[in-house]
Amino acid sequence: MHNPPADNDSTIYKTLLESTKAIPWKIDWASKQFTYIGPQIERLLGWSQDSWQSVEDWAARIHQDERESIVNFCVERSLHGADHEADYRALTQDGGYVWIRDVVHVIRTPSGEPEALIGFMFDISERKKTEEQLLQLQKQLEEYSYKDGLTNVANRRMFDRVLEQTWLDAKRNQQPLSVIMIDIDFFKQYNDFYGHLQGDEVLKRVAHTLNGAGLRVKDFFARFGGEEFALILPETSEASAIKIAERCRNLVFKEQIPHAASKIGQILTISVGVASTIPVSNHESKVFVEFVDSLLYQAKKAGRNQIVQGANQG
Ligand code: GH3
Ligand code: MG
Ligand code: MG
Repeated sequence: MHNPPADNDSTIYKTLLESTKAIPWKIDWASKQFTYIGPQIERLLGWSQDSWQSVEDWAARIHQDERESIVNFCVERSLHGADHEADYRALTQDGGYVWIRDVVHVIRTPSGEPEALIGFMFDISERKKTEEQLLQLQKQLEEYSYKDGLTNVANRRMFDRVLEQTWLDAKRNQQPLSVIMIDIDFFKQYNDFYGHLQGDEVLKRVAHTLNGAGLRVKDFFARFGGEEFALILPETSEASAIKIAERCRNLVFKEQIPHAASKIGQILTISVGVASTIPVSNHESKVFVEFVDSLLYQAKKAGRNQIVQGANQG
């Protein structure tokens, strides 16, 4: 068998190690000193190869937000003799940072104590960037899926979610919950007269106007569908809800949006249904909303541009 000379071996290993993109390093456990770190580290982070003396240098070059948790995690794993990996932001000499994945192998003494740590640092900044972009995209998608594309207010899906949550809270705390349903009067005629695009503009304007009608942070406004809108008012009595319903009708009226094709005047108006309830155990939110919708229908039948309140809970 032919055995090449030992120093040849180490030359090959050294060349290999120092030409990879991953940065190899070794730390002696007892002294906590670096016994080796690849020269590539300088190209990546700016800190010279010989500035990596002890684990303190390593810890000091971790972004402070994750420094403590990363150091604690690595020490804990090493003490257990467990190989591990950690992602963190390594600080660069010029004040920036690079996302690193440190993959660590623990070399143990025959009695199981850590003797040395050998690892590779990988530059994962590209991967992190993609991950962050994906996350951002996901957040945006989620936001879009709960927002009405035309008016920019919450959509029906969001309404259902908020209602479910508010309903549960009201039931648990035995607090009154009010719902207001709003529908634009003669909107079909509006579209027919002014065109669908102008109709879209009016929907945006009405949504924007009504969005400010509920005054408290918890008040929730959504486009329920078509030219119908809804308000969920948690912890709100019937008397207060009726006032808010009045405010809705006045706000839209004050906009003085011309509606030449309306059968009840020259101005765009809304009809409103409003009711309040303290949910009990077998009482469903869907049934209550249908009840409020039936009040809205009564307001239409009674001549529109008015509010009908619930005589009792639905
Ligand atoms: P009422 O007073 O009884 O409410 O009569 P209405 O004409 O308002 O009610 P109807 O339900 O007959 O018509 C609603 C109209 O709203 C018809 C539909 O084309 C229009 N509409 C629904 N969504 C939109 C939209 O996104 N943009 C526009 N421009 N119109 C819409
Ligand atoms: Mg309508
Ligand atoms: Mg309608």
